[in-house]
Amino acid sequence: MTAKPRISVTSKLDGIRSWSLEALETCPGSVNGDGTLVDACKGCYATTGNYRFANVKAPRAHNKLDWQNLDWADAMVKALDSDRYFRWFDSGDMYSLALAEKILEVCQRTPWVSHWIPTRMAKFPKYREVIRKLQALPNVMLRFSSDSISGDFLPGTHGSVIIPDAESAPAGTVVCQAYQHAGKCNGCRACYSKDVPVIAYPAHGKKMMKVIAIRRAA
Ligand code: SF4
Repeated sequence: MTAKPRISVTSKLDGIRSWSLEALETCPGSVNGDGTLVDACKGCYATTGNYRFANVKAPRAHNKLDWQNLDWADAMVKALDSDRYFRWFDSGDMYSLALAEKILEVCQRTPWVSHWIPTRMAKFPKYREVIRKLQALPNVMLRFSSDSISGDFLPGTHGSVIIPDAESAPAGTVVCQAYQHAGKCNGCRACYSKDVPVIAYPAHGKKMMKVIAIRRAA
């Protein structure tokens, strides 16, 4: 079959486009060893609100099959012809090593695009080599997401962490200012920049605030 990537535009990102999969079912890094969700994924925005609508789920389900077509990397390179920034995984993750290797190929063949790749797949040793190659590309910022929702992160390892509010940002992080701009990036491109090692995202959404309240009460 011929690949036809379904590319989305999320309202937050100033019109920057993204390629996504369904949350949780493509997120093996979202679970602890005992099978429970890590804190950051318990309040995942991509499992609530608009993300439950059929028109949002359908392109993600399509993409899960589509990337397996032999010509997918060619189709993605063509689709990114006019993009200058690109966000991978507004929802979902590089759940397959073969997918990660294809994403590497797309990034290598689109040097005109700044790619932002958030992931939890660095937890799995078999991903180390492809992640190393992605991180070495000048046009890729791969951010390993901390599982914490209280600002805990490992310097030199994690590239992003959730914090309960902007005031609780730990040293060494840059706070995402989208909360100051009605939830939009408003020209900020920090997530795509290798000059910003760790972004701290203030928690938002009812589901995440509930998880934080439970964690605080424990
Ligand atoms: S840090 Fe900047 S680029 Fe990243 S999500 Fe927040 S506003 Fe957008």
